[in-house]
Amino acid sequence: MRKKILWISQLIIAVVLLIYAMFSTQIFYENSIATQVNVLKAKTELFYEDDYSLDEIGAKAFSKRLDGVRVSIISVSGEVLGDSEKSGLNNHGKREEVKEAFKNGEGSALRHSATIGVETLYYCRKITLNNQEILLRVSTAAPSVWDSFGDVLPTLVWFLALDFFVCLLFTFLGTGYILQPVQKIAKDAALNLKVDTKYPELKPVVDILNKRNEEVSQKIRELSEEKELVEKAQRSKNDFIANITHEMNTPLTSIRGYSELLASGALDKEHTEQAARILLQQSDRLSKLIACIINYNELDNDTLPSYEVDASKLAKEILETLAPNILKRNIRLVEEIEEGITVKSRHERVNEVFGNLIRNAIRYNKEGGELKISLKRTEKGAKFTVADTGIGIAEENLERVFDRFFTVDKSHNGVHGGFGLGLATVKKICKRSGWVIGVESTLGQGTTFTVDLKI
Ligand code: ADP
Repeated sequence: MRKKILWISQLIIAVVLLIYAMFSTQIFYENSIATQVNVLKAKTELFYEDDYSLDEIGAKAFSKRLDGVRVSIISVSGEVLGDSEKSGLNNHGKREEVKEAFKNGEGSALRHSATIGVETLYYCRKITLNNQEILLRVSTAAPSVWDSFGDVLPTLVWFLALDFFVCLLFTFLGTGYILQPVQKIAKDAALNLKVDTKYPELKPVVDILNKRNEEVSQKIRELSEEKELVEKAQRSKNDFIANITHEMNTPLTSIRGYSELLASGALDKEHTEQAARILLQQSDRLSKLIACIINYNELDNDTLPSYEVDASKLAKEILETLAPNILKRNIRLVEEIEEGITVKSRHERVNEVFGNLIRNAIRYNKEGGELKISLKRTEKGAKFTVADTGIGIAEENLERVFDRFFTVDKSHNGVHGGFGLGLATVKKICKRSGWVIGVESTLGQGTTFTVDLKI
């Protein structure tokens, strides 16, 4: 870039210098010709000082007086009466300076002289001697404009050489200064910073760089998000398999142990019945676990069409079904269900969400506690709330209750014995339906689950 700027500025200055030299030479030349005409004019004044004859002898004598300046004495008819350089010249009446002198009293011309063979400046004036009018012409060799330009040329070459070095210095310093903002832009862009400039000429470049930077950052974000998701998915898959294996292992170990005992025939009647009961219980648990897993996974492939579901009616039906459990635990039920609220979904999905939340609120409630179920219209749709006065959830577990296989009671042999798939299923259904699930809880005091439904 520096080289290019150097050569361009060099070329511009050289052309400018050349044009300037030509014009100034022309002006100088014209001034010098005008001065020479005045000098020639002043010389003709000396003709009156002596008594020169109006012939070749007089012309030669006056030329000598003027230190060799060519002198021509011409009659008013244009006939050359005498010339200091050449005798026998033809009629000069048509010469430019002679014609002008006839007309205006004096005239001048610059042309190539055929007589002396050089570029010549002529000055001619009308003079009156002893009542006789004649034309006195003096002439001198004058350089052509090209001769004058030739004189200027060495100076011009020197100027061009000087200009080259001055340009070299200024280009070196100037380009560094000019390129500073460009270098800053490049540096900021390389560091992925937002690029800015106060120079409007660089604004398009800055805009393109910012746009490209933003696109690259966006791509990087997307790629890292994708990488994270491949997340997470792999980890989740591993966890899922580990959890299933763990959940299945417990009943299977029990089934195998009791089967071996039964097969040995060593048990009496009472213990045989007990072993059979346990076998039944554990195989039930196993079937339930498999059903839960299948149900949870099937949600991903649920493409069945939605229809209007009467959520109010469904909530009441679930409560009716669970009435024995509520009664059994001596729980006081507060029911605030608005009539006729419908949601666009499927019966089994709404049933799953409401059922899981209500069953948990009974299961994790305290003996003689309270259960408040409400379904109300809101500005954006409807809100389903299940509030219990049960054991509550510790703050650190609040988010995790929606994770697959998460149970606060890790033993799985606890009082409640769930698999930790209920809330994960509820969350998945809500996510797919565009519903928002929330939970608030105070350990030992109770829990409230809310679902914002779209109607
Ligand atoms: P589970 O089958 O174990 O109930 P869920 O996914 O339904 O599985 O619940 C996950 C865990 O969240 C439960 O094991 C329990 O510890 C906790 N939990 C769920 N609902 C409540 C509630 N209403 N009160 C207290 N804890 C709850």
